[in-house]
Amino acid sequence: MHDIVILGGGSGGYACALRASQLGLSIVLIEQDKLGGTCLHRGCIPTKALLHAAEVADTAREGEHIGVHSTFNGIDMTKVNEYKDGVIGRLYKGLQGLVKSRDITYVEGSGKLVAPNAVEVNGQRYEGKNIVLATGSFARSIPGLEISGRIMTSDQALLMDYVPASAIILGGGVIGVEFASVWKSFGVDVTIIEGLPTLVPAEDAAVSKAMERAYRKRGINFKTGVRFQSASQDDKSVTITLESGETVSADLLLVAVGRGPRTENLGYEDQGISMDRGFVLANDRLATNVPGVFAVGDIVPGLQLAHRGFQQGIFVAEEIAGLAPATIDELGIPRVTYSEPEIASIGLTEAQAKEKYGEVDAYEYNLGGNGKSQILGTTGFIKLVRKKSDGIVVGVHMIGARVGELIGEAQLVYNWEGTAEDVAPLVHAHPTQNEAMGEAFMALAGKPLHAHA
Ligand SMILES: Cc1cc2nc3c(=O)[nH]c(=O)nc-3n(C[C@H](O)[C@H](O)[C@H](O)COP(=O)(O)OP(=O)(O)OC[C@H]3O[C@@H](n4cnc5c(N)ncnc54)[C@H](O)[C@@H]3O)c2cc1C
Repeated sequence: MHDIVILGGGSGGYACALRASQLGLSIVLIEQDKLGGTCLHRGCIPTKALLHAAEVADTAREGEHIGVHSTFNGIDMTKVNEYKDGVIGRLYKGLQGLVKSRDITYVEGSGKLVAPNAVEVNGQRYEGKNIVLATGSFARSIPGLEISGRIMTSDQALLMDYVPASAIILGGGVIGVEFASVWKSFGVDVTIIEGLPTLVPAEDAAVSKAMERAYRKRGINFKTGVRFQSASQDDKSVTITLESGETVSADLLLVAVGRGPRTENLGYEDQGISMDRGFVLANDRLATNVPGVFAVGDIVPGLQLAHRGFQQGIFVAEEIAGLAPATIDELGIPRVTYSEPEIASIGLTEAQAKEKYGEVDAYEYNLGGNGKSQILGTTGFIKLVRKKSDGIVVGVHMIGARVGELIGEAQLVYNWEGTAEDVAPLVHAHPTQNEAMGEAFMALAGKPLHAHA
């Protein structure tokens, strides 16, 4: 009998295994595909490699504006894929080495929960005092929309060996706007279709609005508040029809309408685990209703982010080892969208904060006053939201080139329940974009330097 049997070797599962091994527990880690899961092989890493290639393409285009002779001569997808796969390959090798170097029993194969304390793989039963479910997620489609040929999800889009002339993206959330950003930079005519009233609808309203302005300026087409009805394809193109009767045609259709939990036929319901629409229900200590069974990562309702999975995996390992770790505040998990411009946020939007706390102050520091942002030629802002009652900052929302790198300070302020008065005296290096964060806090503390009021 092992201490922990972990089903799924993605962000949540492997983080749990690594932390549990540090704590001296005996572990079985079961993975049916590749260690590293979605994030490493089909998610975070490949998309960010493509986004970096897109940034290089834009830099080549923009060189002339600042007196650097450069031209954009096109994209060689074979080379882009080599670069992307090289990054994945090196990280994959490193991760395999890390797991090998620890006292972890790694099992290859598809596992099924056959008892509250046992998982079966290839006819072999692995028993654990504790079970951690970490089977992740898959790209959803919508009823009646079959993924084949020119109609694809991010899984196929990441393997494409050519640059299409045009693309429709169904869904204006994180994955949708990231692909739109890459493809536009690669020279594709992109149209995003979003059912809700704005792009990136989960973000603060000011950020969504700024994102739409930025995408309009980049020539990325989008239709918001429209409902998809059907799609058809032939050997030349794909055409979608909206409920309004309007049609849009392109070389391909990327379906980016969210990710569903990968929990079907894995024995979870049979063992009495409480589920909701396929998600595994877990309490704030990540325990399911069945004693000894925990769940982490994308199968647990909430933000589907790799670093949430890592943190939950670590939490469960420490919980099982008896360390009684502090629970994870879902709102304290940073959220970054790596498009151009980037979006980064933490905590509550202004509207959510108003609903929760009544009176709040919000302040927007415009990147126009920030030297480094001027040098980079980016626009955008940093928006702070604080409670009026005690001044504690409950939300930070940013948009602009590279603002994802600023989320570190924002998350410390949010998670340490800081106020503008706590941060304003801290010195921020000049000229950095991080300085804009300092300026925003100085302004909120009533002593703006490079800002009006
Ligand atoms: C296109 C895209 C871009 C993304 N970009 C980002 C980003 O920039 N930043 C970020 O934080 N997140 C990003 N994500 C989300 C991130 O990838 C997920 O949140 C993360 O991978 C979830 O980790 P997980 O461990 O829950 O699941 P997964 O990573 O999906 O891992 C689950 C693992 O379980 C295995 N498994 C499933 N069933 C079984 C079984 N029966 N037996 C054995 N093994 C099994 C699977 O093979 C898989 O390896 C992105 C996702 C996508 C699709």
